Amino acid sequence: MNAVTSSVFNDSDPYPDPDQIPPLDFLVVAPHPDDAELGMGGTIMRMIDEGMRVGVLDLTSGEPTPHGSLEIRRRETDHATEIMKLTWRGNAGLTNRAVEASLPAREHIASFVRCLRPRWLFAPYYHDAHPDHIAATQLVEAARFHAKLSKTAMPGPRHHPERLYYYFCIHLRLAVQPSWIVDISDQWDRKLDAIRAYESQFITGRDPGPPSLTDRFRDDAAYWGRLIERQYGEPFATKEPLAMSSLRDLI
Ligand SMILES: [Zn+2]
Repeated sequence: MNAVTSSVFNDSDPYPDPDQIPPLDFLVVAPHPDDAELGMGGTIMRMIDEGMRVGVLDLTSGEPTPHGSLEIRRRETDHATEIMKLTWRGNAGLTNRAVEASLPAREHIASFVRCLRPRWLFAPYYHDAHPDHIAATQLVEAARFHAKLSKTAMPGPRHHPERLYYYFCIHLRLAVQPSWIVDISDQWDRKLDAIRAYESQFITGRDPGPPSLTDRFRDDAAYWGRLIERQYGEPFATKEPLAMSSLRDLI
């Protein structure tokens, strides 16, 4: 059942069968393969370490880029997926550099949400310079609402993710003020491995430094870590207030 995808998005992976896959704890929607790793790879792995079911939906192939190709990028994505031990990963087949929060795209992403039934959604932070990222955020916000509609041709059951949070993978030099920071000290080495899996994006043709691009990523993670008195951290934002059942997990 549901091994179909809207004909508008020919390059999309099929919708997963909701009868075959248990609900996810959370789904990270990424404009391009590597955004989820960069923005919240440490948190993804930490939550998987703690037994959560985590999926990543890449909206596009991420190609073309100066040193990549569809084959190289797919291989790199598979490698990063293995390192992170993701529960599920799929590609929505939208066009790189042309992501739009259109009605067909909204319905398409909402169909993935209905089939995967995540408790929470993660979208890119809403202030960015990259039009694909800005459109992706709008698309996730609209799809979250659209996924709960009844009397529709979309596959899967009605579903409304309880929370929508934002991770930082931005192309503006902003001094952002996050809502909270996750301690990823124990996951940092594996996060760097997952980033390095995208050799065509972060290593090939890049200035070896110092500082190299990966040195910069480490500096960023160390900065966020320092703010919470840990070695490395990852920041997040929320528009709605954080709901907590206990203060025990605050550090
Ligand atoms: Zn991106």
